This record gives sequence, structure tokens and C-alpha cells, in this order.
Amino acid sequence: MKPAVIVIDMLNDFVHGSLKCERAQRILDPLQQLLEQARGAGIPVIFSNDAHTPGIDHEFEVWGEHAVAGTPGAQVIPELEAEEGDYQVPKRRYSGFYGTDLQMLLEELGVDTLVLAGLHTNICVRHTAADAFYRGYRIIVPTDGVEAFTEEDHLSGLDYLKQVYGAELLGPDELRERLANVTA
Ligand code: ZN
Repeated sequence: MKPAVIVIDMLNDFVHGSLKCERAQRILDPLQQLLEQARGAGIPVIFSNDAHTPGIDHEFEVWGEHAVAGTPGAQVIPELEAEEGDYQVPKRRYSGFYGTDLQMLLEELGVDTLVLAGLHTNICVRHTAADAFYRGYRIIVPTDGVEAFTEEDHLSGLDYLKQVYGAELLGPDELRERLANVTA
């Protein structure tokens, strides 16, 4: 297995700003630990970030204006700051693949397994998982590394990922062990 960690929409607008999700606070510590382990083991860390076009972006019809490209709201939260060697791939729709360079990057990195983390379990994580599944990637989702606006959305979102895309749902200890074995 050659994994990459994909951190989805952990941006100021999603955690602190116009689309604030209170439950995002719960995943900050687990994500910090996940990123630390990944970086230490040479596992690529890829931030998949909303970067919407001002004024006209189609997503605004559903969610209102958020994560406008080039604004502070579209930057990764300071708690998870991107480091040298991490990758950032901007997107304009829910999926990290749609209209982006993500697949090309994953091919260049030789990745076959995606650890999908961030926001929201039932929206961008789900749509990114769909595109990952179509392209033949194995999918791992840390149960304490994704969140949604409500408990119900989160839990039903996890269930959907497992049932429909065959995602492996791993708790923190299982994930840590799995990633440690990669590098062993
Ligand atoms: Zn968006």
C-alpha cells in the first residue's frame, strides 16, 4: 500500500468563518497527530482546498459565498498549517478530483490508497471518495478525522462511505498502526 493523506476543506471559512462547523473542533487533535505521523514517515500530505471564483461560482447558489480564492477564508486553518513538502490542490466543487490536478499528482507520487480526512463526512469527503473509487483507489477514512454539521450527517456519511465505496473506517489506534506498517 502506498498511501497519501488528503485533508479536505480544513479552511478558515469552514472551521471559524462563514460556514463554521462547531464539530470541526473535535477532529483538530486527531488530524494534527495524523499529519505528524504522515510527515515523519514520508507519506504525502495533500490539502484539497475549496478556492471559489468570486461572485459567480455555482456552489454559492447552495451554500452562499465561502472560501473565495485568495481570501483568508480559503486558507488552511492555522491549527493545521501546511508545511514545506505538503501539497495544496485547489478545487471549485465538492470533489477534490473534479477539474483539478489531484489525479496527476497522485500518479506522480505513485499513490494507490487515499486516507480521506477533514470536512464534511457526507459532502466533500463523500464526493472525493466517489471520484477516488471510480479511479480505482483504495479508501481509508479515519473515524475521528472527519466531521459533519450534525451527528446524524456524520454517522450516516461514514456508513455510506463504507457501503458504497468500500472505504475502510479506522479508529485512531488502527490507523496509526496501519500507517506505521507502511513504512516498516
Ligand atoms: Zn465550496
